[in-house]
Amino acid sequence: MDDALIIVGAGHAGGRAALTLREEGYSGRLILIGDEPHLPYERPPLSKGVLQGTADLAGCSLCDSARLAELNIEHLSRNPVTLLEPLQQRLQLADGRWLAYAGLLLATGGRARRLPQGPAGVLYLRTHDEALALRAALRPGTRLVIVGGGFIGLEVAASARSLGCEVTVLEAGPRLAGRVLSPIISEALLNLHRRQGVEVRLNVALASLQADAVVLADGERLPCDQVVVGIGMQPNLELAAAAGLDVGQGIRVDAYLRTSAPSVYAAGDVCEFRRDGVYQRQETWRNAEAQGRHAALNLLGRELPFEAVPGFWSDQYDWCVRTVGVITALMVSRPLPGGALLLFYLDADHRLQGACGWAPGNSVAKDIALCERLISAAIPLSEASLADPDCSLKHLLRG
Ligand code: FAD
Ligand code: NAP
Repeated sequence: MDDALIIVGAGHAGGRAALTLREEGYSGRLILIGDEPHLPYERPPLSKGVLQGTADLAGCSLCDSARLAELNIEHLSRNPVTLLEPLQQRLQLADGRWLAYAGLLLATGGRARRLPQGPAGVLYLRTHDEALALRAALRPGTRLVIVGGGFIGLEVAASARSLGCEVTVLEAGPRLAGRVLSPIISEALLNLHRRQGVEVRLNVALASLQADAVVLADGERLPCDQVVVGIGMQPNLELAAAAGLDVGQGIRVDAYLRTSAPSVYAAGDVCEFRRDGVYQRQETWRNAEAQGRHAALNLLGRELPFEAVPGFWSDQYDWCVRTVGVITALMVSRPLPGGALLLFYLDADHRLQGACGWAPGNSVAKDIALCERLISAAIPLSEASLADPDCSLKHLLRG
């Protein structure tokens, strides 16, 4: 048996896992397999700096090729894994080669969910190459229609406005980013985008996409030069499902990120894990980073349960929404100067479970970091103190 550790998916979680394995002293054969032509890279800049022309692929990459060579990480690009045989502990590449593994990490991420219909020329955004295609279409005066008012839709809208495009966002639901944000933040986002000149339409049903227009269910025709669709992510779980691994909305893992197959782990967007008894996936930078690192440690036999606190951020124009922890039914709101705000989510014993900040630039990052410490501290907190902008979070942390 070849003693190689193999990582399928050379994205954020896979790349982080490979680097961690070496940092932690693993010196055996290490193979990182990707289907994209690039070195492992982080995706957040794709909808922001890459579209705006202020960031490039090198700036998004987790490491350069010299570093991969120095660490003796074999990076196979443009060569997807097409078959997995968990009982034989081996897999097959698109070029026909078989590789045996002692341990395997599946970090296959996801792809943009497609609309069933639509002419050629409709764009999606998941990969660097898709970001370049979209960037080429965004010129001053371009009439851009964005289908989906989630994070892709809103970040693309902000970038396109900064490039002088005329932007319309069509959202099927009653509010923006409604799946993950509280109504008060959805409202703040709506107001910000409208102030920036974006036409935002909610509760919209599409009839069809045409080469030069989007037609709505009520018959209205919206002429445009470019359509981009951001209606969610579809996890790449087919390889695991075909191999007989337990899958739900993602590849199912136990508390140690182990899948149902021996010596096979999963991490990142594709990984479905249990939190508070409920299976879930996290589609965030922070989760890819934490699970990639964590799966690497467990591949090395550490047996550590995955218990990281979730969180994410989204930059739009010069504002940022940043969250940590989980949303609960008991919310306390703290107004901050200039329309900024902090939301706190408490359990029945008034211990902090989650927080969400909305503020210019990165100004709320410090408060969210303090909230993370308050979550760990698990101290009961008074609603009045949390709502009071003059009561410092540091003070609350000191108990
Ligand atoms: P990915 O990064 O998608 O990597 C998976 C890789 O595996 C891909 O390269 C895929 O092609 C490859 N692969 C799939 N199948 C195979 C196969 N069979 N063989 C070989 N390779 C395969 N999160 C935030 O918290 N904040 C942000 O601001 C933010 N912005 C984002 C902006 C954009 C445009 C996008 C798309 C995402 C953003 N995210 C953000 C989410 C974050 O980037 C993802 O959660 C993260 O990239 C997930 O990492 P991953 O490694 O699980 O998946
Ligand atoms: P998303 O956040 O799930 O948002 C998709 C939005 O499109 C939802 O509001 C959804 O409404 C709406 N929608 C679905 N079908 C529609 C239709 N036919 N017409 C109009 N609207 C429709 O997904 P995304 O924005 O496409 O992002 C894709 C992935 O990238 C996700 O994993 C996301 O987390 C990640 N990402 C993250 C960030 C960040 O964290 N800052 C930034 C960019 C991308 P319903 O919810 O009502 O279905």
